[in-house]
Amino acid sequence: MTTSLIVSFIMPKLQRLLAILFSIICLITVFITVSAASKAREERTNHALASDAYQRILQIENLVTALFEAESSQRALLVTQDNVYFLEHQSRRQVVESLLVPFQTNSTSGNDSTAQELVSLTNERLALMDRISQTLQSSGVAAAAESLHAYEGKFLMDQIVAVAAELTANERDGLQARSALSSDHTDQLTWLLASVAALNLILLSGAFLAISNTLRKNSTLMFKAKSTTDDISHINQLSSSLQSCNSLPESVPVLQHYLLRLFPSSSGGIYLLRASRNLLQLSASWGDITGLPDPIEPNDCWALRLGKSHIMPDRRSALPCPHHESDASSICIPLLAQSDIVGLLTLRFENPRLLVESQVRAELVATHTSAALASIILREALQQQSIRDPLTGLFNRRYLEITLERELTRAERSKASLSIMMLDVDHFKSFNDQFGHQAGDHVLKEFGQVLRKQVRGEDIPCRYGGEEFLVAMPNTSADEAKMRAEEIRQQLTNLSLAFQGQPLPRITISVGVAAYPMHASDRDALIHIADNALYSAKKQGRDRVVVG
Ligand code: GH3
Ligand code: MG
Ligand code: MG
Repeated sequence: MTTSLIVSFIMPKLQRLLAILFSIICLITVFITVSAASKAREERTNHALASDAYQRILQIENLVTALFEAESSQRALLVTQDNVYFLEHQSRRQVVESLLVPFQTNSTSGNDSTAQELVSLTNERLALMDRISQTLQSSGVAAAAESLHAYEGKFLMDQIVAVAAELTANERDGLQARSALSSDHTDQLTWLLASVAALNLILLSGAFLAISNTLRKNSTLMFKAKSTTDDISHINQLSSSLQSCNSLPESVPVLQHYLLRLFPSSSGGIYLLRASRNLLQLSASWGDITGLPDPIEPNDCWALRLGKSHIMPDRRSALPCPHHESDASSICIPLLAQSDIVGLLTLRFENPRLLVESQVRAELVATHTSAALASIILREALQQQSIRDPLTGLFNRRYLEITLERELTRAERSKASLSIMMLDVDHFKSFNDQFGHQAGDHVLKEFGQVLRKQVRGEDIPCRYGGEEFLVAMPNTSADEAKMRAEEIRQQLTNLSLAFQGQPLPRITISVGVAAYPMHASDRDALIHIADNALYSAKKQGRDRVVVG
């Protein structure tokens, strides 16, 4: 109980905490992923800049090399005067000019002034070459060679080489910085991606656990739903089967059958309240019934006293029922119909957990069973009323006719005799007229009681209609019937009655007797003959018995 309380208190909080943690991890993962993407973008830019710097170093080297080659080809032209070197010189010169273009247009990462110096020095060197070429054309090889050997050309080349070296060194420094930055970026990206991978692993594990937990819960729920559906189906079947029962004894095997299915891991019983209402009788039981006393008194059960379910986890529990004689966990549920006790459902479980799980089902079963049993009891009462005459308490004519038919068949089968006597109060109309209808009713009621007392257990006394009575007597011959009719007539005649303090005059009756197989073999003929005998008795002066 305490554990389930703690679980029900802590679990929702724990689940909320886990959901918050899960959301925070998701946010961190998104943040780190965005950071990694931005770092990757930075690294791409860094890489592009490093590549540019490397490109520029190559351009500087190519420019200086091309310049040297242009100068060499001019020297070779002056020495050999071979036109091939003239062409080569022109071509190298064009190469130098084309290699200069990027330095004039592109930015050189903060080295613009040095680059401009390189450009202007190179242009100067090219102009000097052009001057030597013009001197060659206008003044000849000697003059040109003299210009070539002048100090200015070498001085310019030394300057160009120095500026190119400075520019290359600057670009190399930039390249190294980019490389260091790239290394930092790589480290950072590695850590970021590793963190994202770890967080994703945590998220995936959490999601996997949550999904498997949900699936487990779903399968448990489905199992519970299935057993609930089975329970409802069994309860419905129990209910409808009970509705079809005509009497309480008929309902006993039905109860036993379904209660065993509904509570297979239990033993127990259904007690029904006896007509005396002072005892409950064990009417249906299943499982191990040792320790189920029979009968019990209503006061022996707390469920009956309190009018509601009573749970006893064990015999040491508070308020153990005196009728509860075993150590098993038990529940008693009163069967109530419109607040009246009809009976008691008692269940015993070896495992207290099963008791808790079965409580709701047991109460549902009790509700349905109560209603069905109440309806059987009501039907029995109604049937009792419909076969009995309400004034005299004797059987009515309908019941007599059905039963007489059955008794005649039985007599025929067992070759026994059967007699009927038909009794009619003499001059009852005038009695009513003289003493009133209520006094007449009183007389008929008293007649009924005398008749009930006078007949044997197997006889069927009935009020045939108005002030006429009929008694069917199995195993009775015509002579025996005549004798008994005489006795009854005398009993009734000797009856001294009073109504509302006023004495009533003695009343006589006339009786007609008919016997099977002597007078007739079927019901209607037999009644007809008895009726005729009665008519004869009336004709012969009343207050007598006539055999048909
Ligand atoms: P008889 O000797 O020929 O049988 O004469 P009778 O007056 O008894 O016969 P009849 O059939 O003429 O009248 C029967 C009377 O019985 C009429 C009716 O008032 C009376 N009766 C029938 N049923 C009841 C009843 O339930 N209560 C009372 N008080 N009177 C009844
Ligand atoms: Mg009559
Ligand atoms: Mg009469």
